[in-house]
Amino acid sequence: MEKEIIVQKFGGSSVANIDRIKNVAQRVIAYKNKHTDVAVVVSALGDTTDELEALAFGLSKTPPEREMDMLLSTGEQISCALLAIAIKELGYDAISFTGRQVGIKTDKTHTKARIITIDGKRIRDAFKHDKIVIVAGYQGVTANDEITTLGRGGSDLTAVALAKALKAKVCEIYTDVDGIYTTDPRIVKEARKIRNITFEEMLEMASLGAQVMQARSIEVAKRFNITLHVRSSFSKEEGTMITNEKMEEIAVRGITCNKNEAKITITSVPDKPGVAAKLFEEISKQGINVDTIVQNVPHDKLSDISFTVPKGDLAKAIKATSVIGNKIGAGEVLEDKDIARVSLVGSGMRSHSGIAAKMFATLADNHINIGMITTSEISVSCIIAQDMADKAVKALHKAFKLEQI
Ligand code: ASP
Ligand code: MG
Repeated sequence: MEKEIIVQKFGGSSVANIDRIKNVAQRVIAYKNKHTDVAVVVSALGDTTDELEALAFGLSKTPPEREMDMLLSTGEQISCALLAIAIKELGYDAISFTGRQVGIKTDKTHTKARIITIDGKRIRDAFKHDKIVIVAGYQGVTANDEITTLGRGGSDLTAVALAKALKAKVCEIYTDVDGIYTTDPRIVKEARKIRNITFEEMLEMASLGAQVMQARSIEVAKRFNITLHVRSSFSKEEGTMITNEKMEEIAVRGITCNKNEAKITITSVPDKPGVAAKLFEEISKQGINVDTIVQNVPHDKLSDISFTVPKGDLAKAIKATSVIGNKIGAGEVLEDKDIARVSLVGSGMRSHSGIAAKMFATLADNHINIGMITTSEISVSCIIAQDMADKAVKALHKAFKLEQI
């Protein structure tokens, strides 16, 4: 009989020290004992990736991206080897591999590469020899044999892509929280664990700042319909299932808060066709994702344009904006790092009206000023001052009665 295959991904906090690595080894073995082949994907130990990044930025403000990939990919190589050692110590056979060794081929976009194919032959061979396989997350290799990484949080993507390649039954994502919550429980203590959520809602929540899973990995899971189970590595409790199935159309499923964006404003932009195209073409050429964009109504043929970018890309974006600003004869380029995006997410928004109005009224009742607004089919976001963010999330959680879900 063909054995079932399961992919289990353990995040950095789940392997942060020796005791936790031993805990992971035991959990993996428990699955192996259920007559299942287990492919484990690990992130780097604890905050290793941040620490490595800090070392590079200690040497250069703009370290070459190729070298960043050489550097950052080492974190996962350490954790996968350590986990294999821990498992073998418990008497089970295990083998660790880098992304390259299992044939994870990516494009050439250093630090944010996309997976093109996974061969996985070495994994299947190892399964034939009854080994537990540990794969270093977050990394791959280009056709020219250059090491790449898959963007921060990219081990999730490795896990989902492996689940697809190996035809795994489920992909378990182990983390330090026991599932997806209606909002961050550190901000709202009444936050509730969500049992079932759709890919679509989860994708929206992840893109808007829920930090439990990498957004791209959910996109891939959705495309290939790979059931995800997000759960804690410290408890046996079931977590949150992410699937295609819609249980019921809840108007607001969750609230996210993202403090990792910054706002750029370029003033006195000439009001004529092609100006916005020039600006945003230049920014996208730098590989920067722009989010909310607001253009004011022009006065005297001049208008202001504001937009948000990830904080990590702020310096690059300011530079690109200034270059274009000079070319088109615009005014100043201003930055604001003290913003937060607070968003409501729920696929039921399609059929419920008045969600946005209630959100604005709740913020107004709490004397919170709204700087920018964006909506999608299943979300409403407001950009507000960062020091108001927690207050906003608490008030909205209460207003939409999410503690009663
Ligand atoms: N270690 C990488 C990061 O911290 C990848 C991951 O954790 O998934 O972003
Ligand atoms: Mg990490």
